[in-house]
Amino acid sequence: MAAKKVKRKIKAKKPSKAKSKKPARVREKKVIVDTKKLLQLEEARKYVIDVAAEKGLEIFQFLISSGEMEENLLAKKLKFEKANAIRKFLYRLYNKNLVSYRKVRKNNKAWYTYFWSANPERLVFIISEMYEDEIKQTNKSMELNKAEDFYVCDICNRRYEVNEALQNDFRCKNDGGVLTHIESEKVLEDKQSRIDFLKGKLDRVKKLVKQ
Ligand SMILES: [Zn+2]
Repeated sequence: MAAKKVKRKIKAKKPSKAKSKKPARVREKKVIVDTKKLLQLEEARKYVIDVAAEKGLEIFQFLISSGEMEENLLAKKLKFEKANAIRKFLYRLYNKNLVSYRKVRKNNKAWYTYFWSANPERLVFIISEMYEDEIKQTNKSMELNKAEDFYVCDICNRRYEVNEALQNDFRCKNDGGVLTHIESEKVLEDKQSRIDFLKGKLDRVKKLVKQ
């Protein structure tokens, strides 16, 4: 019995350590998330699976619908053989702040009971950030595209900067091919429509949270 207690204490060390660093993990604001729509988003599902595998997604979804649940009961409901088996998935979710826990000391001082709950608003935040990052990156590359002014050989496709093209009378050094201006308008248009598309997605994701 004594050995078992020690084991449990070691297991519990990881989250309690992280908790002491970030007490803000405890939910402060009450927000309402349209979790049904959130979990229909492919990006959202994929993110959770990348973090904690299909099992992790199953746990996350279950906790969303059940609300806070005691660890052993959760393991039982999801047909894990032991609480130990579910804990590794819970920790992975916890590392991304997708779930939180509350520990309650039982009569015996060495034992804690863990209550887990899902943080769907965190997933909304992560997905929004993903869209925002891509928008930022695309904007940056559009700026670069605008700054670049290139010519290309119609035979070998070698690229020339404006000055170099001028010096060579708009002929390729390799094969004498004609140098034509690269049409970057199309590229810019494509990038702009990608940005518009992402902004639309971002808008819809942000609307999943009601403060
Ligand atoms: Zn050429």
